[in-house]
Amino acid sequence: MFDSLSYQKLIQELKPYQATLVAVSKKKPLTDIEYALAQGQHIFGENYVQELCEKQPQLPQNIEWHFIGHLQSNKIKYIAPFVHTIQTVDSVKLLSEIDRITGKYHRKINVLIQVYIATEETKFGLDADEVLNLFDNGFSSYTNIRIAGLMGMASNTDNISQIRAEFKSLKNLFDKIKPGLDKTVTPVLSMGMTSDYKIALDEGSTMIRIGSALFGSR
Ligand SMILES: *Cc1c(COP(=O)(O)O)cnc(C)c1O
Repeated sequence: MFDSLSYQKLIQELKPYQATLVAVSKKKPLTDIEYALAQGQHIFGENYVQELCEKQPQLPQNIEWHFIGHLQSNKIKYIAPFVHTIQTVDSVKLLSEIDRITGKYHRKINVLIQVYIATEETKFGLDADEVLNLFDNGFSSYTNIRIAGLMGMASNTDNISQIRAEFKSLKNLFDKIKPGLDKTVTPVLSMGMTSDYKIALDEGSTMIRIGSALFGSR
């Protein structure tokens, strides 16, 4: 169930940082999302293409959907007609495929480059050098996507100084690539989840992705 008290507290907490909240609704029913909408939340994150594609037509069309899961090239076509932002672009191949496929729908999609900052093999993303390389080459060949910023996930650990160091490294990279971002969008640094969003905000996050603190455990 969506916890409106936690939601109101979180909104207040975010204000001084002017950060955006993505409510992560994966594995949660439509009724939870409808309740969150009624409380004023309109940006939602989902991890699975099939789940997102089942939910999207049943909910108000003005929801801003962020895809935050691992995306396979052959599934881009399912979300390209409606998704607002794909936060998890972890290869140049995926980036160019998103651009190509989005072109068929005569719209634009915002994308974030996913950066590997954790120490866990299970996480995806480009490393810092690959990101710098990508931005060095520029994005002039892409016409259907807006490169809006970076996204990263810290290690799943209790070691706060490690998490802080990982977020610091991402913020540092973000500051370097910022001039290369699409000029028509507000630059996005998406970092921080339920367990570590306070550290992320401290370290310069502009967008946090919160699931369990709002919707309960999964
Ligand atoms: C599930 C998920 C979240 C939300 O996690 P919580 O710990 O429930 O806040 C945020 N980001 C990504 C990429 C996720 O997969």
